[in-house]
Amino acid sequence: MEITVFGAGIAGLMAAITLRAEGHRCRVYERNPRAHESGMGFILMPEGIACLTSFGIRLDGALGGRPLGRYRCRDASGRVLYEVAMPAGARGIRRRDLVAALTQAWLSDGAIAFAAGIESFELDGAGRITSARVSTAAGEERVEADLYVGAEGIHSRAREALFPGWPIKPHRVPELVGFVGGDGPLRWAGDDFNKLHALEGGVALGILPVDARHLIWYLQFDAQRFPLPEIANVNDAAGAEARRAFAAKLLGAFGDPVPALLAATDFSRVYSFRPSDADLIPSFHRENLVLVGDAAHPLSPFTSQGVSSAVADAVALAREVGPGTKSTEPIAAALARYSEERRAQCAPYIAKGRSLTENFVVPLNLNNLVLPVA
Ligand SMILES: Cc1cc2nc3c(=O)[nH]c(=O)nc-3n(C[C@H](O)[C@H](O)[C@H](O)COP(=O)(O)OP(=O)(O)OC[C@H]3O[C@@H](n4cnc5c(N)ncnc54)[C@H](O)[C@@H]3O)c2cc1C
Repeated sequence: MEITVFGAGIAGLMAAITLRAEGHRCRVYERNPRAHESGMGFILMPEGIACLTSFGIRLDGALGGRPLGRYRCRDASGRVLYEVAMPAGARGIRRRDLVAALTQAWLSDGAIAFAAGIESFELDGAGRITSARVSTAAGEERVEADLYVGAEGIHSRAREALFPGWPIKPHRVPELVGFVGGDGPLRWAGDDFNKLHALEGGVALGILPVDARHLIWYLQFDAQRFPLPEIANVNDAAGAEARRAFAAKLLGAFGDPVPALLAATDFSRVYSFRPSDADLIPSFHRENLVLVGDAAHPLSPFTSQGVSSAVADAVALAREVGPGTKSTEPIAAALARYSEERRAQCAPYIAKGRSLTENFVVPLNLNNLVLPVA
C-alpha cells in the first residue's frame, strides 16, 4: 500500500518504521522545517523500549538515555516519604535523543518532507479520503495514498476531520521544564528519579536524569491556584525572567538540591509545556484515515504513557494492517480492529490521569503515595 504519514514526532516516525517493516511504501510529511530539538525529556517504560528495539531503533551510546534505579517521593524539604524500585529497564531520555534515534532508523531507507504540513482532506461521498492538501515552502501539494495516518500531535488536523470541534481543554496541571548539567545536581540525583511535593498540594518538582551528564527538572503546578503569567510563554528575555520568578516563587521554600538546581538553570531555555485533557474520541479511524499518538489520545503527563502509547499505537497499527502484499480485506476492517484495541488500552490511562490530577491539587495524602510516575 501507499501510505502517507503526517507528523514526524514519535508516533509518526514509529508508524512509518513499523508499516515499512510490513512492506508498505510510506511517505512522511512534517510541518516543522527540521526535526524537533525542543521539548525536554520523559520516562520511557520497559515495554516501550522493548517495542522500539524490536524494530531496530538503537537506544544506546549518546542516544541511550539513562537507566533509572529508584523512584523517591520526597516532601519539599527533601525528606524521603516513600521509595520504590523503578520498573526494571525504565529510562529517562531526552525527547530530542529519542526523535534522533527514530529519525536515524527511518532515514536508513526513507525520507521526510520537512516544512510540509497537512492542511485539509478531500473526501468522496462515502467519507473516504481521495487526497490531502499539504502546504510546503514551494506552495501547495496534493497527496494521494491508499491510507492516511494522522500523527500530528494534540492539534491534529486529521482528528479534526474525523470529529470536528471535539473538545480539548488545557490540562489543569501544566509544567515548566528545565535542563541542567553540572556535577552537583547530577551527583545528588544519581540514577534515581526524584519528586519533591509541597505537602499542601498543587506544586511538585520532578528531577529526572536523562543522560550521563544532564538531568531535567519539571515543575508541575495547579494552574487554577498558580496561574502562569502569559509573558512566561514568550521566548524572549522578559519571558525567561518571568519563568525564573515564577519557579522561584513556587519553589522558594523547597530544600536541597532545589536552590542549586534553579541557580544552574538557563531560564531562556526553560520550556513551558501545556498538555491537554480530552475525552477519548469514539473511534481512531474512518475509512482510510487513522490516528496514532497524541492525535488520537492526548494523555495526562501524570500517567507517563504518552510516549509508550504512541509507540504501541504504531506497532498495533502495522500488525492489523498486515503485510504489503495485496490483501482482499477492506482496510477499514483492519483499522477498526486497531481502533478497538488501542481505545481499550487508552481509556484507563485517561481515567487514571484524571484521578492523579485530582490527587495532585489537594494536600498530599501520606497514606496513598504510589509510583506516579511523572
Ligand atoms: C516540541 C515538543 C516538545 C515536547 N516535550 C515534551 C516533554 O518535554 N515531556 C513530555 O512528556 N512530552 C513532551 N512532548 C509530548 C510528547 O512528545 C508526546 O506526548 C508523545 O511523544 C506522543 O508523540 P506524538 O508523535 O503523538 O506527538 P508529538 O510529539 O506532538 O509530534 C507531533 C508531530 O507532528 C508535527 N505536526 C503538527 N502539526 C502538523 C501538520 N499540520 N502537518 C504535519 N506535521 C504536523 C509536529 O511538528 C510534531 O513533529 C513534546 C511534544 C512536542 C511536539
